[in-house]
Amino acid sequence: MISICWFRRVLRLHDHPALVAAARRGPVIPLVILDPDEAARRPASAARQAASLPHLARDLAEQGSRLVIRRGSAAHVLPQLLRETGAVSIHATAGFPFASDDGLNARLAPAAIHFHSPGDLVSQLRRRPGGGGAYKVFTPFWKALRQSDVSEPLAAPVLTAPQNWPASDPVDWPEARTAMARGWDILNRHFRAGERQAHDCLDQFLNAAVAGYALYKEEPWRAGATSELSEALAVGEISARQIWRRALLASHEGVSGVEPFLRQLAWRAFSRELCASFPDMDTHSWRPAWEAFPWRKDNADAEAWRRGETGEPLVDAGMRELYATGRMHNRVRMITASYLTKHLLTDWRVGVDWFSQTLADWDPASNAVNWQWVAGCGPDASPFFRIFNPQTQAAKFDGEGRYRDYWLKETSEGAQRFASAAPRSWRARSSGRRTPDLDGGRRRALAAFAAMKTPG
Ligand code: FAD
Repeated sequence: MISICWFRRVLRLHDHPALVAAARRGPVIPLVILDPDEAARRPASAARQAASLPHLARDLAEQGSRLVIRRGSAAHVLPQLLRETGAVSIHATAGFPFASDDGLNARLAPAAIHFHSPGDLVSQLRRRPGGGGAYKVFTPFWKALRQSDVSEPLAAPVLTAPQNWPASDPVDWPEARTAMARGWDILNRHFRAGERQAHDCLDQFLNAAVAGYALYKEEPWRAGATSELSEALAVGEISARQIWRRALLASHEGVSGVEPFLRQLAWRAFSRELCASFPDMDTHSWRPAWEAFPWRKDNADAEAWRRGETGEPLVDAGMRELYATGRMHNRVRMITASYLTKHLLTDWRVGVDWFSQTLADWDPASNAVNWQWVAGCGPDASPFFRIFNPQTQAAKFDGEGRYRDYWLKETSEGAQRFASAAPRSWRARSSGRRTPDLDGGRRRALAAFAAMKTPG
């Protein structure tokens, strides 16, 4: 009996529960769906997934299997492929936050779609005795996760090929090219894609940089100080469980510095835990009172922010890095997000939306939870009155201005990369924003907050 394994942001052969389940039943057709709607909405993330596909195709071919790529929506592609191949079941990964699977099974009857765990840390969590519901505060969540026995990752299954292979579309997502005016060729240059690369990247990190992780992870100019695994995690080239187990092993073998790295990984799991119980995290404030906060809607200041033209050097450097590479350092993400939501008093959802379009490591849960954390409206969030001063932050974490100069100094490589990536319309006309007034912005934000706290 033929099964389809729908590789849905789990672009790997190892530790892939849906693939293992499909392989147990007989021949498997590995399928990736390139959805034009997804590519148009999140072009950088689509480009990152597309970069991974040739690697997945090669890894499957080495197992005597084949990758079948189809363009369209899942609701259209899946029934069509079932008809073409006579497959009787589909196996896929469940629990991608915000993606609704409602209705898919009704369209596929009498075949069925079986959803499997993503091999994630939340599913490994030792729950509170007697229930107690989902965790809403990070520290108890972290302690429970740290005390949980995270199980051994699954081996890659032996794959049996069907007698006839269905046709495959090429690896191309024209919608991502169109939506991403900066061009996906530019981003592609920065990607280290594929399951093997992800494991190499983890090994390199554990062999060297992890020892200085706690000390150096906040400095955006320091290359290789963090694992740079978020893109691989976002497209599922490696599982959080594989990283966790491998890092613990390294720690038992005497590698130092692993604990703060695991803690950071736990933030990703915590974001998933929160979104499982509050799936509107990307559109609604977790604290309901914040829905009444007088956020400014999208505006000219926010446009200057997107373009890296606020005049605030560290903010502009970060926004340019994001546009030119699809990446941004965590500390700089916090600073740029704080600047948008506080100094510019702009709705955090404007930021969620821009990061969703431009981040190669876009992850719906981590993105939404972190934005709400910075804005102050999320669970266990940073208080709103804690407003990052971008200049103080720059002095602390980029004291010699290396990161700033790389992205802003006209003759530097980074500035040139940004110039060649930026759309023509940006180059022709600046957003025209005035020099920011940090004190004024801060006072306005605190006044809005005080008014919300004392309604009427
Ligand atoms: P490392 O420091 O090596 O950390 C290891 C892993 O832990 C990361 O790969 C990541 O999976 C996880 N992690 C680290 N910090 C966080 C965090 N604060 N929250 C959740 N998980 C974390 N991360 C994404 O993967 N996708 C997003 O869309 C995303 N959006 C963000 C938006 C904002 C406003 C902020 C402040 C942070 C966001 N992050 C997001 C979290 C974080 O910035 C990135 O995970 C991190 O920069 C990735 O670099 P790294 O892999 O070298 O991380």
